[in-house]
Amino acid sequence: MRISQLLSIERPTVSFEFYPPKTESARESLLEAIDHLAQIRPDFVSMTYGAGGSTRALSLDVSAQIKGHTQGEVMTHLTGVCHTHDEIRGIADQLWGIGITNVMALRGDMPQDSEDPNPFKSFRYAKDLISFLKNIHDFCIGSGCYPEGHLETPDLAVGIMHLKEKVDAGCDFLVTQMFLDNDSYFRFRDKVVSAGINVPIVPGIMPVTGFAQLAKFESKFGVKLPEKLRSLVAPLEGDKIAIERVGVEWAANQCEGLLLGGAPGVHFYTLNKSHATVDVWERLRLTDSYKSRKEQS
Ligand code: FAD
Repeated sequence: MRISQLLSIERPTVSFEFYPPKTESARESLLEAIDHLAQIRPDFVSMTYGAGGSTRALSLDVSAQIKGHTQGEVMTHLTGVCHTHDEIRGIADQLWGIGITNVMALRGDMPQDSEDPNPFKSFRYAKDLISFLKNIHDFCIGSGCYPEGHLETPDLAVGIMHLKEKVDAGCDFLVTQMFLDNDSYFRFRDKVVSAGINVPIVPGIMPVTGFAQLAKFESKFGVKLPEKLRSLVAPLEGDKIAIERVGVEWAANQCEGLLLGGAPGVHFYTLNKSHATVDVWERLRLTDSYKSRKEQS
């Protein structure tokens, strides 16, 4: 089923993002995590696409494997960077051939080890990949968005203008980059709707599981760290279990607030692990906001 259709009938949706495991044992751990997460009955799961060459084929291979291993829809991510039109056409045919009809289309980032002087020559932006894919098969297409701004476009209003182009090119729904402050999502959603963008915006949630991770979120992705969360986590440095407990609590409260505020579902960045996500879900499914939304759907 098309994810856009799921988002309109099955509210709130729950979905998980995984990345391609590089070793056989990592692949086994991923399958174990997927089995553990199956109790949540995800509406869809997604498999990211490596920026460099090495994990690209793996992405497709693991997507095909988990398609036979999970009960929800499988969505494969694709990035345009370093790809030619012919390569993307080949991959699109391959995905369509194995029944993967939902694709998350992204631009991707310049790979650190790239020797290609112009890695964006065929697909300058995600919108170019989206319109290209739409012309090949009738994919349902998701793409990324950035409630706190994308690092290359600090002006959010300009970013939303670019987002509109992406949606106009054929993007059916959006998934946000992770954020830790729900106000960022709601402010962004209001601005996006005012700009005439009417596709569902699924919030991306990542439970905090470590102290160093927080600094990385800030520097690598520009995620704003709420003072309250910083003050809860800072005294716990070195105590992984206590930090995870705070992270689960924070993420569960975030999910509850988002669903209360009308978010269409929640998408978990799992990092191929299941425990924190299952713990968040255990908390969330008992809340009135989840139960009442599920009854209405
Ligand atoms: P775009 O939408 O093309 O935007 C990139 C930048 O260009 C933005 O700053 C935008 O404002 C600007 N821009 C867009 N159009 C124009 C224009 N016309 N003129 C000037 N500037 C413009 N990366 C991976 O490598 N693999 C993955 O699987 C992956 N999955 C992701 C999933 C989600 C939900 C998200 C949010 C991100 C994911 N990423 C992934 C990261 C993503 O590839 C990077 O954030 C990348 O920098 C931007 O990709 P994009 O598709 O958002 O690009």
